[in-house]
Amino acid sequence: MAIQNEVRGEPAPGSSLKNPTYPSNCLTFLNPSTPTPAQSTHVRLKIIIVGAGLGGLATAIALASSGHTVTIYEQAPELGEVGAGIQIPSNSTRLLSRLGLDPYLEKCVTEPETISFRRWESGRVIGLTQLIPNFRETYRAPYYVIHRANFHTALYRRAVDLGVTVKLAARVTEYDVARTGILLESGDSVQADLVVAADGVKSVARQLVENGPAIEQTGFAAYRATVDVARIRADPEISWLLERPNLNIWIGDQRHVMTYTIGAGKSFNMVLSHPDDTDPSTWDQTTALSDMQREFQGWDTRLQKIIGMIEKTIKWPLVSCTPLTRWTTGRIVILGDAAHAMLPYMSQGAAMAVEDGVALARSLSRINNAQDIPHALSIFEKVRMDRAGKMQEASLLNGKLWHFADGPLQRARDKAMEPETRGEPFSHSPNQWSDPATQMWAYHYDAEVEIDRAWEKDARRCCL
Ligand SMILES: Cc1cc2nc3c(=O)[nH]c(=O)nc-3n(C[C@H](O)[C@H](O)[C@H](O)COP(=O)(O)OP(=O)(O)OC[C@H]3O[C@@H](n4cnc5c(N)ncnc54)[C@H](O)[C@@H]3O)c2cc1C
Repeated sequence: MAIQNEVRGEPAPGSSLKNPTYPSNCLTFLNPSTPTPAQSTHVRLKIIIVGAGLGGLATAIALASSGHTVTIYEQAPELGEVGAGIQIPSNSTRLLSRLGLDPYLEKCVTEPETISFRRWESGRVIGLTQLIPNFRETYRAPYYVIHRANFHTALYRRAVDLGVTVKLAARVTEYDVARTGILLESGDSVQADLVVAADGVKSVARQLVENGPAIEQTGFAAYRATVDVARIRADPEISWLLERPNLNIWIGDQRHVMTYTIGAGKSFNMVLSHPDDTDPSTWDQTTALSDMQREFQGWDTRLQKIIGMIEKTIKWPLVSCTPLTRWTTGRIVILGDAAHAMLPYMSQGAAMAVEDGVALARSLSRINNAQDIPHALSIFEKVRMDRAGKMQEASLLNGKLWHFADGPLQRARDKAMEPETRGEPFSHSPNQWSDPATQMWAYHYDAEVEIDRAWEKDARRCCL
C-alpha cells in the first residue's frame, strides 16, 4: 500500500516516521505483515536447478509457481533423504503454505506443543518454549516436525504437479558461466537463462562462485537414529515421553540429545550431538552403537534407557561453511547448504533453503527482461547472505549455550531460564527459541516481504 502511493507521487502513510536506530518493532504496523500477492512474472525464464534435495525442490516450486520453466538435474539414481526427522519452523511453514504445500503435508506433519530443555543428568526441565498456541498465534504459522522422507516426497509431488521436470542419475560435472549452462557426466550440455546450484554441503558450484573457504569441521558429530515407539510405550519409566507430541532436548557438557516423535507418532527421532574433530573418513560405523552409548554414560537414566533401545545408527559429521562474500557469478547462483551449511542447532538449515528459494523467485518476479537477471540476483544475494549468515551465527551460539559444563556459567544460564519454566513473564532467555528478540527475528521473518523491501530501498537509492 505504502509503495503504491509513493509510485503515484503521494507521500506514503507514515513516511515521515524514520525507523529508530535502536532495536524496536514499534513501526512494524506500518509494513504489511504479509507480502502483496506475487506479481505474475513479467519474463518467463528457462531455469536449471542442480540438486533435488529439500532446497532444490523448494526452489523449483517457488520458481515454477511464478511461471518459469524449471528442470532439476539430480545425481542420485533415486530420490531420498538421509536421517529421519526434521523440524519445519514457522518462518518456513508460512512460505510452504503460500507455495501450496498444505494438502501435501497435512497427513504427515506433527505439531509439537512445547520444547523442553532438560538437565543432562536428571532430565529436570530447565527451559521451556510454548509452541502451541504461541507460535501459531504470534507468528501466524505453525511449527512442525516431520519425517524427512515425507517432507521430501511432498515437495517432489508439488514440484511435479507444477510442471517441474526432475532428471535423475544426471550428475553435473562442470558449470559454464559464460554460456549459463551445465555439463553432465553423460557428456550432454544444457544452457538456460539461469542456473541455480542447490548441490549441498559438498557443492562444486561453491568453488566457482567464491574460490575461498570451503566446508569446515565444527568439532561436533551427531548420531542419528529412531526408536520404535512401541518399545518406549511399553516401559512406564519412559512412556510419559509419548503422552504429548513434544520436543525434548537434554543438554550437558559438550553434548546434547534432541528428541521428538514423527510419522504420526509411530517413530521416536533422536539426534545425539557430541564432540569429535577426527576425520570422518576414519570413522568406523560398525562400532557406532556402542560408541554412542559410551558418549552418554552417566546421563539421565531414562535417556540412557532409550539410547539402549536404538538398534542402528549412523554417525554424521556436523559441518558448517564460513559466510561467503558472494553467492553468484554471472547467471549462476548457489543456495541452500551449498551457500550456508550450518550447525543444525537452530533447526533452520532446510528452512533457510526454503527461504532462499522463495526469495529468489520473488526477486526475479520484479524484472522485465532477462538482461535484468544479474540485478535481481544481486538483491537476492544481499538479503539472503545477511539472513543466512546471522542464522549460522545463532546456530554456533547454541553450540556454546547448550554445552556448558556444570559450573557458574551453567548455573547462571539455568537460572535465566527459570521464569519460562514457571510460565512467568521474561524479557530475555538463553533459550533462543524463547528469547523474545531472537524469536521475533527467527520466526516472524518473511522472505518475500524482505525482498520487496530491498527492491523498494534499491528504487529509492536509484531515484536520489
Ligand atoms: C543432524 C541434522 C539435523 C538437522 N535438522 C534440521 C531441522 O530440524 N530443520 C532444518 O530446517 N534443517 C535441519 N538440518 C539441515 C538440513 O538437513 C539441510 O540444511 C538441508 O537438508 C539442505 O538441503 P539442500 O537441498 O541445500 O542440500 P542437500 O539436501 O544436501 O541436497 C543436495 C542435492 O544435490 C545433489 N547433488 C550434489 N552434487 C550434485 C551434482 N554435481 N550433480 C547433480 N546433483 C548433485 C545431491 O545428490 C543432493 O540430492 C539438519 C541437518 C542435520 C545434519
